Amino acid sequence: MSFQTTKISKELSKRSLDASKLRYCYECGTCTSTCPVVRVFPRHYNPRVFFQKFFLDLEDVLGEVGLWLCARCYRCYDRCPQELKLPEIFVLVRELAVEKDYLLDAPRKLREALNLLRQEFPFAATYSWLCLRPCEEELKRSKVDKLVFDTIQSFVGDYEKEKTAPIPKTRKEKIAIIGSGPAGLTAAYDLTRMGFPVTVFESLPEPGGMLRVGIPQYRLPKEVLDAEIRYIKNLGIEIRTNTAIGKDLTFDDLLKSEHAAILIAVGAHKSGKLGIEGEELKGVIHALDLLSETNRGRKVRLGAKVAVIGGGNVAMDAARTALRLGPKEVCVLYRRSREEMPANPWEVKEAEEEGVNIQFLVSPSRILGEDGHVAAIECIRMMLGEPDETGRRRPIPIKGSEYAMTVDTVIPAIGETPDLSFLPKDVAVTRRNTVLVDPVTLETSLPGVFAGGDVISGPATVIEAIAAGKMVADSISQYLKGGKPVNEIV
Ligand SMILES: Cc1cc2nc3c(=O)[nH]c(=O)nc-3n(C[C@H](O)[C@H](O)[C@H](O)COP(=O)(O)OP(=O)(O)OC[C@H]3O[C@@H](n4cnc5c(N)ncnc54)[C@H](O)[C@@H]3O)c2cc1C
Repeated sequence: MSFQTTKISKELSKRSLDASKLRYCYECGTCTSTCPVVRVFPRHYNPRVFFQKFFLDLEDVLGEVGLWLCARCYRCYDRCPQELKLPEIFVLVRELAVEKDYLLDAPRKLREALNLLRQEFPFAATYSWLCLRPCEEELKRSKVDKLVFDTIQSFVGDYEKEKTAPIPKTRKEKIAIIGSGPAGLTAAYDLTRMGFPVTVFESLPEPGGMLRVGIPQYRLPKEVLDAEIRYIKNLGIEIRTNTAIGKDLTFDDLLKSEHAAILIAVGAHKSGKLGIEGEELKGVIHALDLLSETNRGRKVRLGAKVAVIGGGNVAMDAARTALRLGPKEVCVLYRRSREEMPANPWEVKEAEEEGVNIQFLVSPSRILGEDGHVAAIECIRMMLGEPDETGRRRPIPIKGSEYAMTVDTVIPAIGETPDLSFLPKDVAVTRRNTVLVDPVTLETSLPGVFAGGDVISGPATVIEAIAAGKMVADSISQYLKGGKPVNEIV
């Protein structure tokens, strides 16, 4: 083991990670092939090469811009045959870059990274904030947190001061985009820069998708998002809010209008149902509703004892948001064990540190009510069987292990799917209720109609939505060079 390996291993051990595994990387490249950041920045970012450099030339890598680009989406970890937690290693190496002799250079490198991000998509600050995650509380901020906090603030301040003029429309073909999340707005940004007139239709009163209504304020200050959306609008992109396709306008209206291509980027906003007795009782509030209401500054009243059902990131966000609303106790009920939890490890750690009580291997069997309101939840204990189609061990109920817990609020957070009720039959849909697309062009079964983001992948990450937005913008521009405008087809 080299000196560098020992140094990194020691630092990782301090953070109770399985450092002994580090030297087992056999450079298969799975991390790079599954990394969504690589799709956007192939020249600046390659996790496998970074990983090698950590051991061979750590000094050199501390000054690289790419060090600040990892999205911490854990896609590499999910698929790494050796289960190496690359995102954690990136965090550590960033800390080293700031703590050691690179203190003076690190702000410049982060700033360079932000400029690089901004060249590619309109959410440089939002993205960096989410990935680098400076601490919410000023007093607890580490050196890295302070650097990230100050640099992003000054970046946002600077580009707000810039006088952005609308980009001239050099193309006549109008493009309609349904949904103003990161996929829709990234596509709008790229198509506008290519000279196309773009209109974005958004059902909610404000643009931003899950960045606005899903991710809680304590993880993403909406002021950062607002600044970036103002900048996008100033480029001449029309965003028509409060305009739901399927309600205020029909999909057919868009097909018959003068639009040359349509992009469906409506995300996955329909909450999964538990499908158990008592789900209709007062006191059951779905995670996306809780997050959306609190993100919009509305007061949500919870009872003293709250049970969140699920083990993903949305469950963690819902539990942490609930905790901030002041109940006595928030517990998360998850039917598998900690190892199978789909939530990012840092979200789980932070939730537990804040006081969320996670109970493993339990599943709700019914919600019990009193006078129409939640009074308790009946659960059954589970054990793990053979792996199922997801590769995780299947939870099996243990007969006779039912027990009841007194709760006043139940928050189901068991998955989200797209609401595709507004689409015509000609747009084919998969069994998972996502829009079916050509994987190369992202065109749907209806010519001239494209789709991207969570609506094709199911719930995923911001960087994946951004990557899809960029890919689909290229594809639409190629289509308009050769294909027929959609209004000539119908
Ligand atoms: C609670 C939560 C926390 C998350 N945290 C993270 C995180 O920390 N890091 C990360 O990388 N990812 C995170 N994600 C995932 C990430 O937010 C999504 O993957 C991403 O926003 C998907 O982008 P999108 O553009 O495809 O869809 P969305 O962001 O969902 O945007 C779709 C937009 O379409 C609009 N729309 C829907 N139907 C219609 C219609 N019929 N007409 C008009 N408009 C319509 C919606 O109102 C919405 O504004 C989180 C998600 C949630 C729910």
